[in-house]
Amino acid sequence: MRRSGLPSLPAGLIEVARVGLLLQRVLADIGLASLAKVSGGKGLHCCLPLNTPYDYTQSKEFARTVAARIEAHYPELVTSKMGKEHRTGKVFIDWSQNDEHKSTVCPYSLRGEERPLAAAPVSWDEVDSAVQRNQEQDLRFTPEQVINRLNTFGDLMSPVLTRRQRLPGMRSREIEPVRVWNNSDVTASDADIAGSLAEYRGKRRFEATPEPAGTGSNQDKWRSSFLVQKHSAGRLHYDLRLECEGVLKSWAVPRGPSFDPGQKRLAVRTEDHPLAYAEFEGRIPEDQYGGGQVIVWDRGTYSPAGSPYPDEASVSKALKEGKLEVTLQGAKLQGDFVLVRTGLDRQGKEQWLLIKKRDAVANSLVDPLQTEPYSVLSGLWIEDLAESES
Ligand code: MN
Repeated sequence: MRRSGLPSLPAGLIEVARVGLLLQRVLADIGLASLAKVSGGKGLHCCLPLNTPYDYTQSKEFARTVAARIEAHYPELVTSKMGKEHRTGKVFIDWSQNDEHKSTVCPYSLRGEERPLAAAPVSWDEVDSAVQRNQEQDLRFTPEQVINRLNTFGDLMSPVLTRRQRLPGMRSREIEPVRVWNNSDVTASDADIAGSLAEYRGKRRFEATPEPAGTGSNQDKWRSSFLVQKHSAGRLHYDLRLECEGVLKSWAVPRGPSFDPGQKRLAVRTEDHPLAYAEFEGRIPEDQYGGGQVIVWDRGTYSPAGSPYPDEASVSKALKEGKLEVTLQGAKLQGDFVLVRTGLDRQGKEQWLLIKKRDAVANSLVDPLQTEPYSVLSGLWIEDLAESES
C-alpha cells in the first residue's frame, strides 16, 4: 500500500473502497465470493452470501478474524477496533455488524438527507476503477441513477439469496440428518396401508391430479441413508455408500465428491457393506484389508430422482442399468448428483462417474473436502486418528 495513498482524517470513500478491495481479495483467496454495495454515505458494505446454516456468533467471529488479519498487514490503513480513538485517518472494518441486533442499510434505500443519495450494489470492478481514477463520485448514486443501473445491469445483489458458501474452518449448525433405516418407523404393513387408503385412491386419478397416491407403505416420501467415509488407506479416498435393500451399496471415490458440475469424479464400485458400517470410525490395522484411518465425513439421507414414486426397487434397478440420479440431503453434500457406469477396470471392478447436477447448490467455488475436512459424527480430523495411536 502506498504511503502517499493514506488519508488525512477522516478516511474518505476512496480509502474505504481500497480496503474493500483488500477484503474482496482476501476472501477470494480462500475461495469465497463477495458482493459490494455502497451505503449512500461514506461506507462500503461487503456481503458474503452463505445460504448455509451458520449463526451470528460464527459469522461475526469469521468477520472479526478477517478484519484483524487485514489490520495486521495494513496497520496504517485499517483498524478493526471499535473505539473512535483508533479510527483517526484509518478505515474501520466493522465486523460487529454481523449480529441480529444490528440493522444495515438495505441496497436501494435512500439516505435521510434533503437530496438523498441511494445505497446500491456495485461490482468490484467498479470499485476498482473508482480507486484507480480516484473518483469518489463513481461510487455515489442518485435515486435516478440507481434505477437506470437496475435497468442496465439487473440486480447485482441477487446472488446474496442463492449463492451457497461455507466459512472455512467453521462447522455449520446443520440439522441432524434424519435416520431412516428402511422406514422401520412405519409399523403397518403395505396391505394394511393399501386397505386404509382404498377409498382415498378410489376417488382420484393420479395421472390427472398432483396429489400423492401414497403407493405402498411410505414410498412417496421414501428416503434412505447415505454416507461418505474419508479413508486414508494407501491412497486417500472417499467411500460413498447408499443404503439399499438392507446393505450399503458402495463406491470408492479417489478424489471425493464435488459441487462443481464440471468435475466428473471417478467412483469405483466396491463390495456391499453392512448397515452398521455407517457408524464406523477408527483405525484399521495396517496389516489388514483397507488398513488406515476412517472417519464419517458426511451423512444424511438420499432419495432417487427422476421417478415420481421412487422406492428401493427403483434404486436397485437403476444400479443394475448403470445410471442412478439421487438427491442428497447431508450435512455437507446437498442437491442432485448422478452416478453413471462407464465400464470395467482391469480387475473387473465397475467404474462409475459421480457428477454434480446443475441445480441451485451447484457451485464451482465451494469445496467442503477442503473447508470441512472433519467427521460429522465426532468432529475429528482423519489426522487426529493417525496421531492418537502413535
Ligand atoms: Mn475405502
